[in-house]
Amino acid sequence: DLCLQKAKQTSELNAFVNVTEDVAENHAIDSEKRFYIDKKIKPLDGVTIAIKDNFCTKNITTTCASEMLRNFVPTYDATVYAKLIKSGACLIGKSNLDEFAMGSGTVDSIFGPTRNSWGYNGETDWRIAGGSSGGSAVAVSSGACIAAIGSDTGGSTRNPAALCGVVGVKPTYGLVSRYGLIPLVNSMDVPGILARNIDDATEILNCIAGPDNLDSTTIKRKFQPIEIQENFDLSNLRIGIPSEYHCEGMNEEVIDTWRWVADLLENEKALLKTVSLPHTSVSIAVYSILNQCEVASNMARYDGLEFGLRTNEDYSTEELYASSRSQGFNNVVRSRIFAGNYFLLTRNYEKYFLKALKLRRLIANDFNFVFNGDNRVDLLLTPTTLSDAPLYGDFVSKHNRDQCALQDYCTQPANMAGIPAVSIPIRLSKSNLPLSLQLMGPNMSEQLLLNVAKRIE
Ligand code: GLN
Repeated sequence: DLCLQKAKQTSELNAFVNVTEDVAENHAIDSEKRFYIDKKIKPLDGVTIAIKDNFCTKNITTTCASEMLRNFVPTYDATVYAKLIKSGACLIGKSNLDEFAMGSGTVDSIFGPTRNSWGYNGETDWRIAGGSSGGSAVAVSSGACIAAIGSDTGGSTRNPAALCGVVGVKPTYGLVSRYGLIPLVNSMDVPGILARNIDDATEILNCIAGPDNLDSTTIKRKFQPIEIQENFDLSNLRIGIPSEYHCEGMNEEVIDTWRWVADLLENEKALLKTVSLPHTSVSIAVYSILNQCEVASNMARYDGLEFGLRTNEDYSTEELYASSRSQGFNNVVRSRIFAGNYFLLTRNYEKYFLKALKLRRLIANDFNFVFNGDNRVDLLLTPTTLSDAPLYGDFVSKHNRDQCALQDYCTQPANMAGIPAVSIPIRLSKSNLPLSLQLMGPNMSEQLLLNVAKRIE
């Protein structure tokens, strides 16, 4: 009840596309019966959650914040959602996002932008929530739920977590099933977790991770639940500081915070050293090409025939396709489809797509080398974002729109390599907004990653 109340009180923040009050009420009745009559307790009993609106929820609209799916009601549940419900969690609502998870601000949604609760001074003066899982981050930071599910293709869970001052976990690719997550880039998408602290995020991860027959890319090995230890020993832990992450445009306050935490870890006897990930600078360009190619192919299913928006254009099938797609998608989606199809033309395929795939391999190899080479480190410490949360007006200005991809500079390489990463809120900036740092680790290193994150938080 308190969470539903909070969701309503904070409706100006626009975190939710849909507050699922009836689902929450039915859930409360069921769990009360189970609790008092059958005396059965589940691990997430009493835990309220929000789910990003690009995860399918049976009988509950799943819009991807797009005109194309405004009225789409799935007939099945995403595995992540099914597992959370089975563990006793209670759905409060579906959260806002950039259309089809394309963006870094939650500013491009048909339901309007999500506002950051930090620095909110009414309709005209507010900070962006980050994105594309901004609704999930604000749902947690405003107290409307205990944890939320986002998706992370290039940073979409960690970026809003960082700007909203909550924890954001991007698990190893394949550790958590993507079944029912409407795809952006299939080879990089992972469900992500947003929570108030590392303990809560770990509880959620323990409930949603593991192999799934419905997603052939899940890691087949049985999942060992993560255990968080009190006062995890940091002595002799090797932590790398990748020099390439000191990038142009990074705010001084962010760099200070990075240095400060590195010193604190050193005081705890961790071994800090500078490492190099030489292909970092090409990562954004490579990501854009791969993203746009996969978008061009993934979006082909929205043709106005099977499901989604169908316009009244009945002159010809081609006209129907064209009008449904031009009315159903926003500019960002349409321009990515356009660019992707260009890169995939026979004459460009090798020059762009294949080259991008090769570079992706080199980016992944960089991580392999720092985690497994002669001078190896256990984890990497970097900023999550280049600054604290920008003002909405600045973020959507023409110049920054062109620079939008830069927002993912620190987060997106982890998706290229499939490795796990976590964003941890550290302290407040001079403008009283959250500043966060990121830890990255080798594949399947969640146990270590989250224990160290817990020491930092
Ligand atoms: N900002 C990136 C994009 O627009 C990443 C989005 C995401 O992780 N879903 O594609």
